[in-house]
Amino acid sequence: MDEILRVRDLKTRFFTEEGQVNAVESVSFDVRDGEIFGIVGESGSGKSVTALSVIDLIESPGRVTGGEVWYRNADLADEFREKRSEAVDGDFVDLRRLPKGVRRSLRGPSFSMVFQDPMSSLNPSITVGEQIAEAVEVQRRARANPRSTRSRTQGYGLGKYLVDSIVPGREYTSTESKERAIELLEQVGIPDPEARAEEYPHQFSGGMLQRAMIAQALAGEPDILVADEPTTALDVTIQAQILNLLRDLQREQDMSIIMITHDLGVIARMCDRVGVMYAGQIVERGTLGDIFENPVHPYTEGLLGSIPDLEDPSPRLSPIEGNVPSLLDSEMGGRCYFADRCPNAMEACLNSIPEYDTDSGEVVGDGANAEAVHTARCVLATREFDAAEALGDDYFGDRAEASDPETPDDAAEQEVVSDA
Ligand code: SF4
Repeated sequence: MDEILRVRDLKTRFFTEEGQVNAVESVSFDVRDGEIFGIVGESGSGKSVTALSVIDLIESPGRVTGGEVWYRNADLADEFREKRSEAVDGDFVDLRRLPKGVRRSLRGPSFSMVFQDPMSSLNPSITVGEQIAEAVEVQRRARANPRSTRSRTQGYGLGKYLVDSIVPGREYTSTESKERAIELLEQVGIPDPEARAEEYPHQFSGGMLQRAMIAQALAGEPDILVADEPTTALDVTIQAQILNLLRDLQREQDMSIIMITHDLGVIARMCDRVGVMYAGQIVERGTLGDIFENPVHPYTEGLLGSIPDLEDPSPRLSPIEGNVPSLLDSEMGGRCYFADRCPNAMEACLNSIPEYDTDSGEVVGDGANAEAVHTARCVLATREFDAAEALGDDYFGDRAEASDPETPDDAAEQEVVSDA
């Protein structure tokens, strides 16, 4: 499979009163045609911010401060090959070097997002059908007038809705878009979609709302769908239905999906390849088999070791000792970010922040675009643990004390695996 997205060395900072927070730190990954790439990590590890950075939705006080986001789009590449040669590489364009209006215009037909809480993501005062029809209409107008950024990005807020409702003969959404909205509701499995389209969000159940959100995200027929914890707010049986729906839609439409979750069970069920995030970095990347059967990074091993064994249930799970770092720039230091929690920490881990490394030698792509198939930001990717070099248990203070299972941070750690 070819790549449709290449993210390289992406960095996103938040400039807060407490200081600079490095929410995304040198993240690199590829997404291939028709695959589901999973990003897994605990709350605050930078999963959602990574996805928002890719589709240019970071708001103040945050800012993407570095890196490249190469998106395969032959039309855009041709359009900018002369004007901005540094932003074009073959059929790929670096979205960060394109004008903001162009980047914005890609939301819908190129990138779309399903948010984790459908209750707060839909407008409670507008019918579900109208909200989906609006998304269809924006794309319809964009296709009719592809040069106009405004036609693509014009929002349809409550004010416009009221004007269109009051002024005779004025409607933003066309009959064609309303019919397409009903088709989309049917496609995502909403029964009696014509009647349901006339209902308001509070009349839908949680699962139905999430289906409606997916329908809205599909309005532009995106190349890449970002699903940000799409099942977190749902009960278990509805979670399974939504995951099956996403899998079916991905196959039918040959989309790529970036699946963001804290749930290793969702990753195992859905994804082709996985990136494990910790402290703003993807610390290990590989296929599902690489990550679940042959993990390299001790954090990945810790997560997997925390999954309950249904055949041999032990009285307690084994949490990873210690607490997640603050991500404040002033506190991160130039060493492995996991060193203070790592059972295998050695002196070599303190010299610098480990780069992606692998001993398998298996690589896809070439030159600057080469990407190792299974890689980890860990010295153990290329060497064995040496007990003679191990740091003492008290090197970073008392880790056991910091890992009291009642503390909120350990609760977050358990959250990563509890549904797995
Ligand atoms: S680099 Fe060292 S401290 Fe960091 S995860 Fe690997 S072994 Fe542990």
